[in-house]
Amino acid sequence: MRAAKESKRSKRSRFLRDTMVDVQIASRGIRSRRVLLAMRQVPREIFLDQRFAVAAYEDTALPIPKGQTISQPYIVAKMLEAAAIAKSDRVLEIGAGSGYLAALAANLGREVCALERHEALVQRARSRLRHLGCRNVDLRHGDGTAGWPDGGEFDVILVSAASAEVPAALKTQLAPSGRLLIPLGNPDGVQPLTKLTRAPDGRFVEEEIEEVRFVPLVSG
Ligand code: SAH
Repeated sequence: MRAAKESKRSKRSRFLRDTMVDVQIASRGIRSRRVLLAMRQVPREIFLDQRFAVAAYEDTALPIPKGQTISQPYIVAKMLEAAAIAKSDRVLEIGAGSGYLAALAANLGREVCALERHEALVQRARSRLRHLGCRNVDLRHGDGTAGWPDGGEFDVILVSAASAEVPAALKTQLAPSGRLLIPLGNPDGVQPLTKLTRAPDGRFVEEEIEEVRFVPLVSG
């Protein structure tokens, strides 16, 4: 009886996810088959508190504890498509929040290192990633503006919070041909989601992807 009930629930979740991808994401021009597939596979409701879980597949950002938000699914898709994560890529996420974007990046790449400044969010996100069976995410408590503490280089860096400038430490941790995505601008307003690509000669090529509104990147 219990098993039958659960499978009904997971079927419904899959149906809602497929609808979300068709109606909110593919229809708005996201073409990456890998991104669309990942978003069909990773449940969003498990990253939300129960009272918001019913709204998990609505076309909107939603509250998570500590006054933070889980991003709108379409914006998550846009960010992932622009990042073009390959199966062999190492990804760094700054501002892991609920863990939803980290789970998607882990589905697309080889390894995800993620930092979150609120310890309470780190604990929640860790247990949710474990529940999902997501083993290739190393989620730590810390200030992401200083980059990943062990150093190293990343093929993709996803900054999930808005900043007036790109933290210098993150630029140095971007591998050649690496892509860094950041909502770049006034944290109180609308920011252009900006993509920086590290050219082979070391220069950064900048491109604006979409207008977004993210919570601020807080240093320290
Ligand atoms: N990608 C997340 C979005 C979380 S909102 C998700 O899928 O849920 C952005 C997060 O960035 C917040 O949780 C906030 O606490 C965190 N944050 C802000 N400044 C930070 C910093 N300097 N280092 C690490 N995390 C930071």
